[in-house]
Amino acid sequence: MTFKELGVIDPILKALEEKGYSEPTPIQQQAIPVLLKGKDLLGSAQTGTGKTAAFTIPILQSLVEGFPPKGKRKIRALIITPTRELAIQIAENIDTYSKYTGIRNTVIFGGVKQHQQVRKLQSGVDILTATPGRLLDLISQNFISLSNIDHFVLDEADQMLDMGFVHEIKKILKKLPKERQSLFFSATMPKSIIDLSKQILGDFERVNI
Ligand code: AMP
Repeated sequence: MTFKELGVIDPILKALEEKGYSEPTPIQQQAIPVLLKGKDLLGSAQTGTGKTAAFTIPILQSLVEGFPPKGKRKIRALIITPTRELAIQIAENIDTYSKYTGIRNTVIFGGVKQHQQVRKLQSGVDILTATPGRLLDLISQNFISLSNIDHFVLDEADQMLDMGFVHEIKKILKKLPKERQSLFFSATMPKSIIDLSKQILGDFERVNI
């Protein structure tokens, strides 16, 4: 099985080749075709399985189709993750895979001054990776609008609930367009997580690694 056989397009294949990924991991083999069809996904997968590429590659590919956008860039994909470290890792992955696509991304998280993050947002990005608190903060200051989001990812949902982010997540959900593709990842699937996933996902497919 190759990335090309999964339907991945040339500009992304080139970046994967450069990175030295010779074949897709099991979660990538399962998730990429589902996500390229535009379906919602519930994934139980740990970090280290290649999960990040599994969800970022199809998002990039979908955004490339309508590219370049007419007028100012708007945030079309939002990835929420619980910690600054995870957020930075995801954004670095997106940097790698998007290298030949023209798609722009940035990352925001708390604990640092907002000025540089705001400047990058104002320069125009297509994909935003964020921790919940800083995201809501910048939304309330009108630096971010979620009204053009086509792709929403909630990553590490169980850790998110453990860290007490449930109210933040619900606030963010209220600001998202109803028409969107949603992806939900959690290492564990207790009832609280299944309940939360039902509030986020439409008709979904499930992938377990
Ligand atoms: P993740 O689970 O997304 O944190 O990825 C774990 C590590 O695997 C990261 O360092 C990725 O760069 C790497 N990785 C992801 N997909 C592949 C692949 N298909 N082949 C080799 N390494 C990969």
